Amino acid sequence: MPGRYDEVRRELMREPRRWLVTGAAGFIGSHLAEELLRLGQTVVGLDDFSTGTRLNVGDLLAAVPDSRGRFRLRAGDVRNPRDCRDACAGVDYVLHHAAVASVPRGLAEPGVLADVNVRGTVNVLHAARLAGVRRVVCASSSAVYGDLRAPAQREDEVGTPLSPYALGKREGELWGDLFGRVYGLPVVSLRYFNVIGPRQDPAGPYAAVVPAWTRALLAGEPCVIHGDGAATRDFIGVRAVVRANLLAALAPLGEGPHVFNVGSGHETSLTDLYALLRDAVAAVRPEAAWAAPVHDAPRPGEVRHSRADLSRGNAVLGYVPEPGLDVALAETVRWHAARLPAPRVPSRAAA
Ligand code: NAD
Repeated sequence: MPGRYDEVRRELMREPRRWLVTGAAGFIGSHLAEELLRLGQTVVGLDDFSTGTRLNVGDLLAAVPDSRGRFRLRAGDVRNPRDCRDACAGVDYVLHHAAVASVPRGLAEPGVLADVNVRGTVNVLHAARLAGVRRVVCASSSAVYGDLRAPAQREDEVGTPLSPYALGKREGELWGDLFGRVYGLPVVSLRYFNVIGPRQDPAGPYAAVVPAWTRALLAGEPCVIHGDGAATRDFIGVRAVVRANLLAALAPLGEGPHVFNVGSGHETSLTDLYALLRDAVAAVRPEAAWAAPVHDAPRPGEVRHSRADLSRGNAVLGYVPEPGLDVALAETVRWHAARLPAPRVPSRAAA
């Protein structure tokens, strides 16, 4: 509920804290760092720039002009315990988002995935405990629901993992719970559903569907739907995810495990998502209104239907999925449209 988030904002502005955001040069991490800086906090970012970029960091700093002196970016690897120890020094809260964040990349490189997502998480938790950090919030994923069939996914059930990524995220949650029970370090795991927003990477073989389609629609290229388009996802805007993190960092917690869904509570088929996005793009490029998608084989390791049950996060954290999907799609389209190369104007010689 906005009320609880407003309280969190006021509390942070009244009494600023020091935060470590791992993966700060990535999509979600850069939005976390941006909101924290906006609220007057001091932020350390840790990133190895494997998928994150300095462009994202430049973008977030440009969005908060008075952040000078309150943000420090450390180049480092969560697989390296020393990098984690150095980054945690003097920190109050850790928002752990560094990861191999793609199901297809995890399938292609399971060893790298286990090193970064599992060992890297253990390194961050251990370093946080040694540094006396107050609480760690870890990015988990709805992928942990795997083959579970339920109208809406609830936190007390998980399915058989369908990918190394899903298994790695589940292991991360269990490590978080263990650090709470054995070492007394409060750890919250947030199961993100499909997060969308500005700065999500549109390029490469592991691109998520919304940025890849947005770029294609803006450029007048065809969009590929893997499968028949009837598969559903729960899409949530990155600004709601940022709110969930700050609520999770500050909310009073009862008995663990502290695992919460972060989604919209609604499912949208890929076909419907395509139509919504096409309309949003048509607002800035009218020709997109007539675009049609092409279908390809479904991708391995993907779940068929996905929808978050939000009751636990709402009751304990005060989480509500705001702003909604329409706002998130419009912001995404505007961001990509502003970064596309300007159309080529024929030179005088060629005219
Ligand atoms: P992203 O790839 O944009 O961000 C991940 C960041 O981690 C990147 O900046 C990358 O350079 C950094 N990183 C990777 N390996 C590292 C290492 N060894 N050491 C230090 N930094 C490293 O992805 P994202 O979408 O922003 O995802 C952030 C987190 O949220 C991840 O843990 C991901 O699994 C989780 N998540 C994302 C979604 C989504 O829809 N985007 C859904 C569920 C969960």
